[in-house]
Amino acid sequence: MRKFSSDRLLVATHNRGKLEEIAKLLEGFGISVVSAGELNLPEPAETEDSFVGNARIKAHAAAQATGLPALSDDSGITIDALDGAPGVYTADWAETPTGRDFVMAMTQTWDRLEAIAATEPRLAQFRCTLVLAWPDGHDEVFEGVMAGQIVWPMRGDQGHGYDPIFQPSGSDLTFGEMDRWQKNQISHRADAFRKLVEGCFT
Ligand code: IMP
Repeated sequence: MRKFSSDRLLVATHNRGKLEEIAKLLEGFGISVVSAGELNLPEPAETEDSFVGNARIKAHAAAQATGLPALSDDSGITIDALDGAPGVYTADWAETPTGRDFVMAMTQTWDRLEAIAATEPRLAQFRCTLVLAWPDGHDEVFEGVMAGQIVWPMRGDQGHGYDPIFQPSGSDLTFGEMDRWQKNQISHRADAFRKLVEGCFT
């Protein structure tokens, strides 16, 4: 496992929320964090059919463009009864001509489960893959997962995306009903970040 030994990290995202989350996580390691958005780097097309494939595209493109080590993430939800869909297409299921509509995406997800009469528990996993890539082409990959089930109707107005229909294992609450702190203790993203810090930053 290669250790991170630079004092600057490029975060391969145009999403301010993600940048802040990552900067917060790396506080205390003496690393200055800059994002692909701030440097106006182009967003590469995510053409792979796996989380790791798409995360690799983003991290390597940013590392090549800047000469800095770059961190990317790719995430989504996989549903057993739908053979792993929506998976890497999680965000795409919410696309409309006027922007993303997650109520529509959750309703469609439920309709598909109803159509095949999926029985309880409707097992699902939130997944997050992090890739740390260096300009010389080396990378390290970390995968986080939170197992749970799809529930209906939607519950809770915290969080984002598919949170209101995902109930993590061991909880009576959906991610949508948990406050941010509670979710951040157990989420797929927290799991992946813990592995990243352990592997490359300590
Ligand atoms: P991306 O990694 O930014 O491409 O995001 C993939 C999609 O997965 C997001 O648009 C969300 O719909 C979904 N997603 C990823 N993580 C979460 C989560 O923690 N809660 C709800 N939805 C999520």
